Amino acid sequence: MSITTTSMPFWKEYPERDSEWVRQYPTKHVMVTEEEVFPPKPMGVYMHIPFCNRLCFSCPYIKFQTERDLTLAYLDALKAEITNYANRPYIQDHRITLGYIGGGTPTSLTAQQLDDLLGHLHNSFDFAPDADFSIETTPIDITERKAKVLLERGVRRISLGVQTFVEEELKNLGRPSDPEMLKASIRLLQDAGFENINIDLMHGINGQTMEGWEHSLDVAIELGVTCVSFYTYMEFAQVSTKRRKLPPVPDRETVDDMFFFAADKLTKNGFLGYYGDCFAKPGYQPKYGETSWSEDIPIIPLGPTATGHLREHWYFNEPDIGRYVQTVREGRLPISMGRHIPKPEAIRRSMVLGVKAGRVNRERFMRLHGVDFMEMFADEISDLVEKGLVEVTDDGIEVTGPKGWYYLDNISKAFYSPEFRRYPQHLGADITGFISPQRSLPLAIVNGDSQGGCHDC
Ligand code: SF4
Repeated sequence: MSITTTSMPFWKEYPERDSEWVRQYPTKHVMVTEEEVFPPKPMGVYMHIPFCNRLCFSCPYIKFQTERDLTLAYLDALKAEITNYANRPYIQDHRITLGYIGGGTPTSLTAQQLDDLLGHLHNSFDFAPDADFSIETTPIDITERKAKVLLERGVRRISLGVQTFVEEELKNLGRPSDPEMLKASIRLLQDAGFENINIDLMHGINGQTMEGWEHSLDVAIELGVTCVSFYTYMEFAQVSTKRRKLPPVPDRETVDDMFFFAADKLTKNGFLGYYGDCFAKPGYQPKYGETSWSEDIPIIPLGPTATGHLREHWYFNEPDIGRYVQTVREGRLPISMGRHIPKPEAIRRSMVLGVKAGRVNRERFMRLHGVDFMEMFADEISDLVEKGLVEVTDDGIEVTGPKGWYYLDNISKAFYSPEFRRYPQHLGADITGFISPQRSLPLAIVNGDSQGGCHDC
């Protein structure tokens, strides 16, 4: 910035000594409000509820069969963790503008527990009146009463784990629901007043055909949901098809065809692509991921395994529920592992996660980091444009659908610094050693007989 100076007459030329005392500069003032002096900065919350009322086949996530004593101990710890964060001066400069409640199955809690927990969250932090909160649920847990509590507590988007509307495929996933029950759950949410409903669908399920996949997409569109996310079914070593005597999963080529078929069908029916495998009607995009990633909003992680991003660090919480409860009871934050993000990596992070959200805005990026990413990453961008994976738009760059959506993670990784580049991970990796079947619970409660089934409930 250049500073323009004008030559001022020195004291000798002054007619007399100036009687006005120099106190402040600039010299002209206007009305200023408290909000202008202390603007609350946006902040998000991720809250993890690691319980499910019924555990599905092949689910790799850390979760426990809902059990009264463990749930009560956990909810006490979670509220103590919320209070611990709320009392920190850094947090008090912020206002909660978005949040995500995931699991497990958050709605495995009772209506009263949900009300109490969300009430504590609201009372502990400064909430923006239009804060955008999402929650995950399943058809077996959601009730009219819970839907009402969630709406009253400001939850605007609800994500229902459907996986498929084909009965045989539901059985092969070990899901308890029949297709009519799934449809009834969606209608229940619509009647309760939820305008933004996401459903998760899964492709690559044992015995799934292209006709079955098309049927599930057709039902989703007919039901009028505002968002459809789909995931590839992953078989884990501990639930081998052979052991469960199931039909084989479709081959890789068919699973890929299913992806492109769904992208085509959904976009032709008015959905826009976000994060590659998430399609939403205009105005109903999942704001939690999109905003926290592309605007670099700090996120408070609550609960075991929850991931956050605060004070130039990303980190995740202690995954062991027993140690989590113990640490919080001792008055400490259950931070486990993470990483400091120096400025050069913060710039790359915005590119990596911005691309993951489907688009990077040039002006916003400049405001956040003071650099023009189009210049800084000119080589990477021109390579991606040449490959037909990214397009340059008036606002910045956008991932080209459907080809770019399919390769979204590869595209994001183009912006990793050399230190963090790694080989693509392959599906079906043996994670047996990663997820231990028993945890050191001081509460003498161990994981249920979980084997596993879907992405998010
Ligand atoms: S898929 Fe969802 S409902 Fe099923 S066990 Fe996993 S987290 Fe729970």
